Amino acid sequence: MRLLITGGCGFIGTNFIYLMKERHPDWKLFNLDKLTYAGNRKNLLELEQDENSGYTFIHGDICDKEFVTSVLHDYKIDAVVNFAAESHVDRSINDPAPFLTTNTLGAQNMMECARSAGIEKFVHVSTDEVYGTLGPNDPAFSEENPLEPNSPYSASKAGADLMARAYFETYKFPVSITRCSNNYGPYQFPEKLIPLMFIKATTGESLPIYGDGSNIRDWIYVDDHCTGVELTLLKGQPGKAYNFGGAAEKTNLELVKELLAILGKDESLITYVKDRPGHDMRYAMDYSLAEKELGFAPAVTFDEGIRKTIEWYQSNGQWLEDVRSGAYREFMDQWYGER
Ligand code: NAD
Repeated sequence: MRLLITGGCGFIGTNFIYLMKERHPDWKLFNLDKLTYAGNRKNLLELEQDENSGYTFIHGDICDKEFVTSVLHDYKIDAVVNFAAESHVDRSINDPAPFLTTNTLGAQNMMECARSAGIEKFVHVSTDEVYGTLGPNDPAFSEENPLEPNSPYSASKAGADLMARAYFETYKFPVSITRCSNNYGPYQFPEKLIPLMFIKATTGESLPIYGDGSNIRDWIYVDDHCTGVELTLLKGQPGKAYNFGGAAEKTNLELVKELLAILGKDESLITYVKDRPGHDMRYAMDYSLAEKELGFAPAVTFDEGIRKTIEWYQSNGQWLEDVRSGAYREFMDQWYGER
């Protein structure tokens, strides 16, 4: 298979590429990434430097029709997984426009180019956030729930989901959608909850929690989400959306306390800050469709996953430092002359 992955220099894309290389050494992987602040080409440098890895990096924008069309043609792509996105809710509150551009219009552009190129399978990576919010006693989201996004980020993702539905209904375009809960694991950009709290706890800074910390998220180890995407690519039905989750609902406060306990730090580091506007109360995923149709089940428990994640951040302090200081960009500029 010649697989185009967009956004592969981000958190989930990087993990996906390493996992697919391990599981399918014969696949040729092409990573198209714009290298926004969240994209770190250095994550995959060892594959890029190995001529026999079957991995190719392509610098560009999913919104550029001419460019995407030539990539699909020149690299003879069979299938596409679209991870590329602006992914941070807080940033979407400050400025929604880039979210609409990449997450909605960029996804539509990818589907349009892929449709013209006769691509056999297209997986669009979406999120649980498109469903909106749950009350404490509501049943978990199923694929039958209406899309009721509450943040500019989730609205921009829901726009792409609706466009994917329309591409299937109108053109029979072979697109499947994945909707997954909160991911954690190696290579996550340190603006996100777990790496952010890890940094603050290890440097002895206070750990800011929105509101009273009672908002609930379901947490999934990133490899389990990547397995869900892989199964959707291999077995997902066109025109269908599949939910994925980690069966690990936790309040933000519980999560942060668990992190502090593992790190041997005191809970007095926690501080409460003004809640985020439109902050969804609870997400929980019913992934029985993916279990039944794709054979999906999360393999990593939260206790295992959080320990693995913390160990990774502890042994990759330089990665964190480089990302925070932007030093990885300077390195890549020197290495390649340009990003
Ligand atoms: P990320 O922010 O870490 O990475 C996004 C990547 O996309 C970066 O490498 C960036 O350079 C690239 N990118 C951004 N705009 C682009 C454009 N216009 N053209 C090409 N590349 C572009 O994001 P992530 O956390 O890895 O999330 C990946 C996908 O998974 C997103 O679609 C996100 O909505 C979805 N998702 C994430 C989570 C989560 O918990 N992180 C949960 C469910 C779904």
